[in-house]
Amino acid sequence: EDGVGSFLLSGLNPQQQSAALCTDTSLIIVAGPGTGKTRTVTHRIAYLISEKGVLPENILAITFTNKAAEEMANRLISLVGESLANRMIIKTFHAFCAMILREQAEHIGLDPHFTICRETDRHTLLKSVLPALKDQEIAQCLEQISAAKNQLLTPDASPTGDSPDFIAHYRKYETALKAYRMVDFDDLIFLTVQLFETQPEVLRSYQQRFQWIAVDEYQDVNFAQYRLLKLLKALDVNLCVIGDSDQAIYGFRGADRTYFLQFQQDFPDAKTLYLNQNYRSTQSIVAASRQVILKSPESAALELWSEVVSKTKLDIYHAPTYKAEAEYVVHEIEKMVGGTTYFSLDSGRVESHAEGSYSFGDFALLYRLGAQSQPLFEAFQRSGIPYQIAGQTSLYEYKDIQVILACLWALFAQDARFYLQFLARQTNKIEPFLNELRQSLNTQPVTQLIERIHNMISFDDLDEKRTERLKRLLSRAAPFGHNLQQFLEMTVLHKETDDYDQRADRVTLMTLHASKGLEFPVVFIVGCEETLIPYQREGKTYNLEEERRLLYVGMTRAQQKLILTCAKKRFLFGQTKQNPPSRFLQDIENALKEIQQRAGRKAGKHSKNNPQLLLKL
Ligand code: ATP
Ligand code: MG
Repeated sequence: EDGVGSFLLSGLNPQQQSAALCTDTSLIIVAGPGTGKTRTVTHRIAYLISEKGVLPENILAITFTNKAAEEMANRLISLVGESLANRMIIKTFHAFCAMILREQAEHIGLDPHFTICRETDRHTLLKSVLPALKDQEIAQCLEQISAAKNQLLTPDASPTGDSPDFIAHYRKYETALKAYRMVDFDDLIFLTVQLFETQPEVLRSYQQRFQWIAVDEYQDVNFAQYRLLKLLKALDVNLCVIGDSDQAIYGFRGADRTYFLQFQQDFPDAKTLYLNQNYRSTQSIVAASRQVILKSPESAALELWSEVVSKTKLDIYHAPTYKAEAEYVVHEIEKMVGGTTYFSLDSGRVESHAEGSYSFGDFALLYRLGAQSQPLFEAFQRSGIPYQIAGQTSLYEYKDIQVILACLWALFAQDARFYLQFLARQTNKIEPFLNELRQSLNTQPVTQLIERIHNMISFDDLDEKRTERLKRLLSRAAPFGHNLQQFLEMTVLHKETDDYDQRADRVTLMTLHASKGLEFPVVFIVGCEETLIPYQREGKTYNLEEERRLLYVGMTRAQQKLILTCAKKRFLFGQTKQNPPSRFLQDIENALKEIQQRAGRKAGKHSKNNPQLLLKL
């Protein structure tokens, strides 16, 4: 009996163990939230390496976000050690395809120095070839182009339903991309599929390289990603996908849960396995979330149970206004945080709040729309509660940082014209400077390039925040050493939602979408009212069942406590609106709900002029 193997399997229940041990056929693990899908697939990979003698180079793991890839890599490092784990490829679809395109650029007539067009650059690019279009029309057209690419449609292959205008715009966009030797985000997958479809020997080399493929969150793949996997899955390739069709929430972006549902037809040699025990949440959280999802005619109605006995019911709070909702959240968090003492400027005294055993890092606040976060973090600021927002402006979106990045791209690219446009005001100065810098490109670490560019550019003023951002940029660049290409690629593939620290002792604020795959001891879902969840914009259609699944994803993030709140009056996007509580709340039986009544706080306690300082004593 090998000690390592038993160690890897001992953390799994029998159902999970059979999934980890099922290595002779392809596999789909169909299971509800918190059943250990991600844990099982991670242990399965560790088992393959340390028990079955599989080479890490032969393993490809695909995750939904960069954050999830990082998390899986860390778990594998602790299971099999750094030297083995680092030899595996653990990436998102986009990062994986970017890697392949760099390796194979010349096979599809790409300049190996191709650059990746960021979302903001797409806008600039299309606007430059269609100056007559309004910003709104540009945005809409870009969305349509993205949808076409996710369906693997070129302008020439566009369906007849598309307007001639759109096809002409799409064509112009493609010509402009090519002229600047750029590919966009969607092209990463599109071009890789094209490469594999047209160059069987190249495809074969990757099939031989990646003998073992695992895909997490398979319910949210789109057509292009699905095609890519079908191509990679040769007969001798072992494919393991995991997911939950009740958690499919990216339909609006072209994901299609039918690929998950039809997996067994697509790959008849595969086995289907189920996991039924939820290890994450208490029984009442599991029960309440199931009541919401089982109302859906589209639900997979997977069996799911938990052994974690609940001490409390779900808290439901109907706030009169969105401000009262935020105050309620603040108050509840203060109540649940124990061992923390505040120095209150109101009273001028040290105040000890009711004891609880939670710390700030245990809380997540989830909402449907990013714009909902403002009144919440303002309330946190007033009360001195430490918080972090996942999905706020990413470092790379700030103007000053973009200028530096544009210079770096210009240095890297054969053809710097596109990036030089950004530097219009300073081109005269910058072109010769960049030409000079290019001479010593390979002998300087990225950090040094950044510093030299920063010193060269005359920013309008000396701004503390800018200096701070520069520091952050330098610290992110440092691990890349001299590898400018990899650093730039990271900045493009980076998502705002990657920017938060799971270990920080702060309350995390994020959208329901961003919470996928995560878990927190205490979860607040705020804004549980009609028009927010389900989200309905005037005159727009919406997918009721996808909205329901989104709430289901949010509810099932909670480990011990789940609190749902709504507000009668809400100010959002410059308007005050009144909406009834979300219809989904009615799907939860009363026996599981504790309706919270709360008298208002003493006026002034949290007013702007009296901020409380937080002292951890
Ligand atoms: P989701 O659908 O939300 O992505 P999941 O099925 O991927 O969920 P995991 O995140 O892998 O679930 O696991 C949920 C939690 O349960 C984690 O904290 C995990 O460590 C724990 N867990 C899973 N299986 C076991 C087990 N056999 N013993 C103890 N804890 C477990
Ligand atoms: Mg998971």
